[in-house]
Amino acid sequence: MIRRTLLAVACLCTVVFSAPDLRAQALDPIRYTLRFPAPHTHYVEVEAAIPTAGRAEVEVYMPTWTPGSYLIREYERNVEAVAAAAGTRPIAVAKSTKNRWKLATGGAANVTLRYKVYSREMTVRNNWVEAGFAMLNGAPTFITLVERAARPHEVKVELPAAWKKVETALEPVAGSPNSFRASDFDTLVDSPIIIGNPLTREFTVDGKRHVVLFEGDTAMIEADKAAADVQKIVAAAKNVMGSLVYPHYHFLTMVTESGGGLEHKNSFLGMGSRFLTRTDRAYKGWLGLIAHEYFHNWNVKRLRPVELGPFDYENENYVKTLWVAEGFTDYYADVLPKRAGIASTDEFLDGISAQIEQVQSVPGRLVTPVNMSSYDTWIKQYRPDENTANTTVNYYPKGAVIAFLLDARIRKATNGARSLDTGMQWAMQRYSGDKGYTPDQFYAVMSEAAGVDLKGWFAKTAESTDELDYTEALEYYGLRFRPVDTRNARAYIGGNTRNDAGRLVITSVRRGTPAIEAGLNVDDEILAIDDVRVRADGLAARLDQYKAGDKISVMVARRDRVMKIDVTLGPEPGRAWRLEPLPSATVEQTARLAALMDGK
Ligand SMILES: [Zn+2]
Repeated sequence: MIRRTLLAVACLCTVVFSAPDLRAQALDPIRYTLRFPAPHTHYVEVEAAIPTAGRAEVEVYMPTWTPGSYLIREYERNVEAVAAAAGTRPIAVAKSTKNRWKLATGGAANVTLRYKVYSREMTVRNNWVEAGFAMLNGAPTFITLVERAARPHEVKVELPAAWKKVETALEPVAGSPNSFRASDFDTLVDSPIIIGNPLTREFTVDGKRHVVLFEGDTAMIEADKAAADVQKIVAAAKNVMGSLVYPHYHFLTMVTESGGGLEHKNSFLGMGSRFLTRTDRAYKGWLGLIAHEYFHNWNVKRLRPVELGPFDYENENYVKTLWVAEGFTDYYADVLPKRAGIASTDEFLDGISAQIEQVQSVPGRLVTPVNMSSYDTWIKQYRPDENTANTTVNYYPKGAVIAFLLDARIRKATNGARSLDTGMQWAMQRYSGDKGYTPDQFYAVMSEAAGVDLKGWFAKTAESTDELDYTEALEYYGLRFRPVDTRNARAYIGGNTRNDAGRLVITSVRRGTPAIEAGLNVDDEILAIDDVRVRADGLAARLDQYKAGDKISVMVARRDRVMKIDVTLGPEPGRAWRLEPLPSATVEQTARLAALMDGK
């Protein structure tokens, strides 16, 4: 674990956060033209007209990561055929770092940079171009000037004949079809662009245009139903935060049998299945994704940790409160569908229970405080390995559980007069925009909402590895964890396995399991138990032949050396973290739970 004192953060901060800057009006824009001469080969061709202010040399760069997805991605690896010209005269281009280039302008006032980007990664942070459509994100597409100014950036899309439409949250340029303008590079990076023949629906709330878009294999998507339910989530979220703070909003879903979602200021980009409106389970999963990413338009895109701006697009930006930015957002992703009338009480309690279970079943919760798991996300959460669960805690579920406990604490301390909603509104009023909050400022505003000092409580929940205390919240809402009957628990070895072309291979071994106690290792191939072969898909059925407490001999191959390891089986852990209403809940307790679920 890297401690702050040992870490020299080199913040080159190449770009100013999207501050309204009067100087921005004076700067000439960079003008990009995007072309798709052969989209089936997965390339977008970019032409950038770059003003030089008469300098003999300018340096340009491509970001190496995308805000919201905390890993250096090296997008420049997909760039090729970089060339530049001043008018019709070619000029020298020299690569100056892995993601920067120097252009010898010869004093020309404007130069043209041309390059191609290979676009075939179907993730919410990268690009995809194919015969039918293009999905472009800012960071992996646009090379810009190395500078600290808030310079406008414009994008013009030349549509292939078979494509009809460009959809993005960027502002259109009046009188110029398929042209858009960003007031600065941050806005450009923050605005995915979908080009093709998408299925769209629109609705208006508070006079603001909302576009619900699906691109990909959309034949089975029930767009009217989806748009109606998205509108309900918008209304529920508005009740939490008080007002809608964006000019317009795009819900962009790629129907490409892939997963994930990424928040932006005025849009979100997510992925889903062609079946996403077909089954209740898939549909509610997608609506949960919508609720999460949409709530981010407040929590992280406008109300943000102070470290998340101005962005340094070439280096890690370290932040200790992603458990607020992601975890509190995930809490509202459980709350909003309930308040919108989409989820049942059982589904709401199941959602919160799943968050609690994810925290309580991970040994790493006793190793790393959630503020440090946030800080180290660049090297841990976004680079998981076989030991991750043993060494760190995911700040999404732990942050969500802290939000659940905090909500109860504020409601209890104020006799139900205020809630976490109040705290989020006050935090938004105080720290949104260019300000950002420090952890202490966030603790202070929540303390104010509760009317009691919560600094010590946050130190314990978010800055230590102490177990979370559920007593207060459960008592307040009249809930309990469902009792678990372990009398007939199945035999349990612990550790996860995969079927590797017919070989049964151990992929992870958690602390506190029979497997780790006995010395079974990751990458061991399990061959037999008690001298009887175990086939790759047969481990669970074989363990059913035993009971907890039985001693077995496991034959494994470790780097091809065959050996036997004795293991004492344990009882399979029950699902011990399922919330349910107390059978003896009082009228007051039931009313408090209803107030949480109804948004009172
Ligand atoms: Zn998120």
